[in-house]
Amino acid sequence: MNSNNNVACPLDCFDTCQAKYENGSFKGDKDHFVTNGKLCVNFANLVNENYLTTSKYLGKEISLDESLEILVDKLKNTTPEKTLFYKGSGNLGLMQKSTGYFFSQYGSTLTKGSLCEAAGEEGIIQGRGKSINPSIENLMNSDVIIVWGRNFTQTSAHMYNLVKDKTFITIDPVKTEIAKKSELHLQINPKTDYELALMLTRVAYMNGIDDEEYLEENTEGHDWFFDIAKNRPLVSYEEKCGIDLDDVYKFFDLIENKKVSIMLGVGPQKYNEGVQITRTIDSFATFIGIHKQENAGGVWYLGTSMYGYDDLFKTKTKNKKVSLPKIDYGKFDLVFIQGANPVVSSPNTKKVIEGLKNSFVVYFGITENDTCEYADLIIPSSSFLSKKDIRLSYGHDLKSISDVVEEKNPNTITEYELTNFLCKKFDLETLKDEDEIISYYKETKVEKEEQFEEFEFIEDLDVEPLYKNKKDDNFYLITAKNPKSLNSQFAKDDYVYLNSDSNFNENDEVNISSAYGEAKFVVKINDDIKTGCAFFYAGNKFVNYLTPFEEDDEAHNAIFQEVLLDIELC
Ligand code: SF4
Repeated sequence: MNSNNNVACPLDCFDTCQAKYENGSFKGDKDHFVTNGKLCVNFANLVNENYLTTSKYLGKEISLDESLEILVDKLKNTTPEKTLFYKGSGNLGLMQKSTGYFFSQYGSTLTKGSLCEAAGEEGIIQGRGKSINPSIENLMNSDVIIVWGRNFTQTSAHMYNLVKDKTFITIDPVKTEIAKKSELHLQINPKTDYELALMLTRVAYMNGIDDEEYLEENTEGHDWFFDIAKNRPLVSYEEKCGIDLDDVYKFFDLIENKKVSIMLGVGPQKYNEGVQITRTIDSFATFIGIHKQENAGGVWYLGTSMYGYDDLFKTKTKNKKVSLPKIDYGKFDLVFIQGANPVVSSPNTKKVIEGLKNSFVVYFGITENDTCEYADLIIPSSSFLSKKDIRLSYGHDLKSISDVVEEKNPNTITEYELTNFLCKKFDLETLKDEDEIISYYKETKVEKEEQFEEFEFIEDLDVEPLYKNKKDDNFYLITAKNPKSLNSQFAKDDYVYLNSDSNFNENDEVNISSAYGEAKFVVKINDDIKTGCAFFYAGNKFVNYLTPFEEDDEAHNAIFQEVLLDIELC
């Protein structure tokens, strides 16, 4: 059998599967523990996409060489700081980071922060000093898995398969698939996760679940944290979170004397104080001893997959950086967008489009997307099937490898080739040999580490509740991944989903407005959505007309859900 037939799934997904290319088709690698011989529909969708095969300038087809000449010419005639390099998550192979090596040396403005997980990651780091996930064995050795704001069956279908016989508890405003499979679903009000964590801490103390000796020896500030928790009566938590105390008691019945894991998603941190919210949840987990269980349990979050590795694409240049959720594209003379679709994925679509219209936009990617409509120059990147790569996972510690399994289209260029081409044109240092880079990541073994040396509890909490300004007819905005697509890729679903007690009917046409903008939607009624919430799938073309062009207060993270909505019939 051909052993150079590996393909790492490049999609932005926890599972980081590896496929085998055999006789013209793809199969999940049976030797990759997480993939376990199966691939998902998104991989099939990706393989069947129409790939870009021609460069375009102002809508006209041109050759690849001509497109590269235009790019070089534009860069030579622009002040480096007035150019923006923006890399998205369309392909998470490590070699995709190559291009940053050129733009960083050239002096472009780069981005900082995230549209996704940065606030939560910072919250974990503030408590533990680092953000790493426990091993997959710890998850498999658990009796109970608490799925907190994460659509586990969907965002990590392969990891779920490894533990599907466990007892689940779900905390989520939506009755997700995993909530339906759970022993207990706490259908929480949006942005009250920190209050639920405090409520649980208080009840844990009442039930004597905390281990004073462990907390004294391994943590700092648990007394202060408990003081915050006991500051409010339980009925106040019940009312604000929308959770019955009886369900909280059931929660503790289910986890008592059990090995427990928490799968924490990005949902609870999509707010202004996302760092504090995540740190409060992690503090609760530490309070009840989730981190102290031997070879079992722990808290999983979407941490950095690069932990413990050198970044071989890093340069010594000190570049200016702009916050990813708040990019004013119009301020740049040239914007280079790689594998991203900010017109749909970034907060406040109207501002994004206005900015792109006022800049020279270069799009570099394998498929055409909504952002291409505003691109002056389109350069096709080579398919992920025709370039070598390697993926590290932010969900587990296995790696996936990509060999070249398909001939490269000569009208396309890989990220590695483009980088070295540009470095040579501008007399800058070129990248190390491609095989050398890949083999470093392939061969390097990151030693297992404890989750923390000393955990620091959150001792001061300052969160402005969203319910404070909510009028009776306002809705919370919530989003989640679509079962048939991945963010803005593949299947489209532009509906708004509302509970049947919302006074709206199936297929009503509505105008939804927020303090940041408005857009029209068609209603779908779904009682899995909590009353008072308006639900949209990630990738909905219009939802980001409603979201804040703002960042959270500590980590330059997008705050998509820090918004209240008004809904009216058209
Ligand atoms: S589950 Fe995720 S990593 Fe695996 S094939 Fe599907 S999209 Fe790719």
